Amino acid sequence: MRMLVVSDIHGNFTDSIMEYASSSDLIVCLGDLINSGDYNEECFEFIHRLASETRFLMVPGNCDTDCFQTFLNKNDEISIHRDVKDFNGHTFAGFGGTIDLISHVRALRAYFLSDSEGLLDPISSNLGNSSTLQNLFDIIGLEIKDGCLTAIPETLTLVKKWEKLRPSCEFQDCEIRDFFIKEAASSDIWILHTPPFGFPGSQRLGGFSIGSRGILDAIIALQPMLTISGHIHQTGRWKLGTTLCLSAPAMRNNFAMSITIDSRQEIAFEIIELK
Ligand SMILES: [Zn+2]
Ligand SMILES: [Zn+2]
Repeated sequence: MRMLVVSDIHGNFTDSIMEYASSSDLIVCLGDLINSGDYNEECFEFIHRLASETRFLMVPGNCDTDCFQTFLNKNDEISIHRDVKDFNGHTFAGFGGTIDLISHVRALRAYFLSDSEGLLDPISSNLGNSSTLQNLFDIIGLEIKDGCLTAIPETLTLVKKWEKLRPSCEFQDCEIRDFFIKEAASSDIWILHTPPFGFPGSQRLGGFSIGSRGILDAIIALQPMLTISGHIHQTGRWKLGTTLCLSAPAMRNNFAMSITIDSRQEIAFEIIELK
């Protein structure tokens, strides 16, 4: 089986992907078709064109708005979000969107504050002088007082500031984990927008992963053969026990991925550079 993986398109609906579409048995799209708020008809036309070439499955990304999710609900045959579908001798399960932002912010606050060994050293390191780290601290409610990192209490005003930053499509980690464990336990290929927590390359400022702990727990519990995720806009490969976790590059940067699974269930992948 040859799969064409497109992810994180962010409005780059380039025609050059079509030459790879017809030679694939399956096209999977990992979401983030648009930039938040930039929803347009061009996006739906692009999906319909891909879906007319061969079997097509997709999940939404965190940038895909409510109206996009309504489109997916109406097009059940292509949506694999919170769903399980059989194809070509494999059972696919999917979960789109990303982790709940407020839980992520709370974990990030704890991560910086618990660094009692000073390993991250946000105060004296170069990071501490950078305006990007300062901006992050302003958003998540941390401040440096008398050379010591402290948390601003979680008041309603602070939570309201976080609420404004919530992505269009987010889920609690426990919700994601429960879906796989309760409804997709026998699936062998997972189609995801967000990678598992700790995935190489998923670490952002300060080294904290933007992956999902719910996905990580579910992979460890169920050990599917393969997971494919996007969101971090870079190619990556991670082995978690017997599970191969792949991260697809961003089509926004003119890249796609091709994955082949042979009759012995050997998995190979290559990166496609689009013209
Ligand atoms: Zn993206
Ligand atoms: Zn994303």
